[in-house]
Parts: sequence; structure tokens; C-alpha cells
Amino acid sequence: MRLSHAVEALEELYPPSWAESWDAVGLVCGDPAQEVGRVLLAVDPVAAVLDEALEWGADLVVTHHPLLLRGVTSVAATTPKGRLVHRMIRNGVALYTAHTNADVADPGVSDALARAVGLTGELRPMVPAADDPRRGLGRIGDLPEPMPLRAFTAQVAAGLPATAWGVRAAGDPERTIRTVAVCGGAGDSLLDTARAAGVDAYLTADLRHHPATEFTAFTDGPALIDAAHWATEWPWLADAERRLAKAGTLETRVSTRVTDAWRLHHEGAM
Ligand SMILES: [Zn+2]
Repeated sequence: MRLSHAVEALEELYPPSWAESWDAVGLVCGDPAQEVGRVLLAVDPVAAVLDEALEWGADLVVTHHPLLLRGVTSVAATTPKGRLVHRMIRNGVALYTAHTNADVADPGVSDALARAVGLTGELRPMVPAADDPRRGLGRIGDLPEPMPLRAFTAQVAAGLPATAWGVRAAGDPERTIRTVAVCGGAGDSLLDTARAAGVDAYLTADLRHHPATEFTAFTDGPALIDAAHWATEWPWLADAERRLAKAGTLETRVSTRVTDAWRLHHEGAM
């Protein structure tokens, strides 16, 4: 199909108007008139993902994170990002981004995360969108059976792809977890929202020392579970793939390259 048709299908699923004002979503490179047949979905627009796309013969890469988020004045092949743009154009590969507009979609990034870690039943947004309370940022749902934080943390790890970062939890390991809030990607701005929601655990990524320590030491808030940023967003790719496949004759594939930044992990021995 034409790239313009694939873009239409993506924008119906993830309207660009839902993105945050600071975000950069939509078609990054590619000619709307070109034909596309194979679509690779990935979290990060990095060289390893483009390698994978070229090996498979993809002509469209859909990523969650933007390649060019801030203003650029050059895409010369003298910078890593410029080289990536050149490689894509030379090989006829288009790049499309659905970022914060995919975060707040229904279903969106956090729905896929919630399902991956075993939340069942109805999910509701942590921060409902002003124009439609069924969608929004983050999700809250229930476990079918309550379990200790220790067991739920293991279940989260089992439901997500493996990374060096792994899954960490803050709070009493024996605390009973029944209701859980999740936010794919960096979610420390929603710590207070998670506490106000009265959930037993909050799963997100990129939690920093001071907010996490103060939150667990000085509030009666939920236990915190911190997973690799990439791993919390990766489950969404399969969902986006399934929905995009309905648009017509596209071959689709989810990237399996781990593009989380952290590669090595040791616990320390002193
Ligand atoms: Zn992210």
C-alpha cells in the first residue's frame, strides 16, 4: 500500500493531536507516495533497529520514541542521527513515530504493560484525558488474586522482556498487592497520582533515588516497582502491530533487539 495510507491508518489509531505540545510525532522521513509492504515496530529509532529493518527488507519503521525531538538545522551524515536519516532515505525506509499520542490512546502503551504483568478486568487511566475519560496517561487495574510484593515483582519480571536493568521493587516485600497502577516509560511525575489513587503498587521506569526514597520513607503510598524503560514500552508494539495489521496488506514484525541503554548489571559485593 501507499505510505500515505499506512500513515492514515496509524493516525486513526494514534491521532497526532493527542501528543503533548513538546513532542514530535508523525512521519519523520519517507515519501507519502512510496509503496510500503513490510513494517517493523520498535521502541527506539537507533542504528541496531535500522539494521534489523534492512535485514528483513522493511520499508517502514514505526517507533515509539522520536528521532528528532528538538529542533535540528542539519541532517548531514556527519552526526549519528544524520547518518541514520541518510541510511533510511538511501534504502527507501520511512520512519514514523507514535509517542505521547500512543501513551494516552485506548488501548495505549500502559494497557499493554498492564496486561503483560497480569492485570485483568477493566483498566482505567491514572490521569484521564480531558476530552475522553476512557483514555489518558497510565492505567490502574486489579490482580485476579492478591499476592505479596515479592511474588508480584517476580511476575512483572516474567511478563517483560529480559534486560540488564531487570525489575526492582521498593517497599515491604510481604506487602499484599491487589490494585496496581502502571505507566510505561518514565513515570515519576505520577508518583503523587499513584498515591492519591490508593493503589498497592506503582510500576513504571526511570525512578530516581530521591523521589523514590522520600516516597517510600515519608509517605504511606504504594510500593514502587521500577523496570527498564524499554521493557515497559515494548509490550505495546505487539498491540500496535495487531491494530495496524487490520489496515490492509502489510507484513508486520515487532523488533526483538534490546535497545535499553543499560547492558551490564552487577549487584556489588562489599
Ligand atoms: Zn519512553
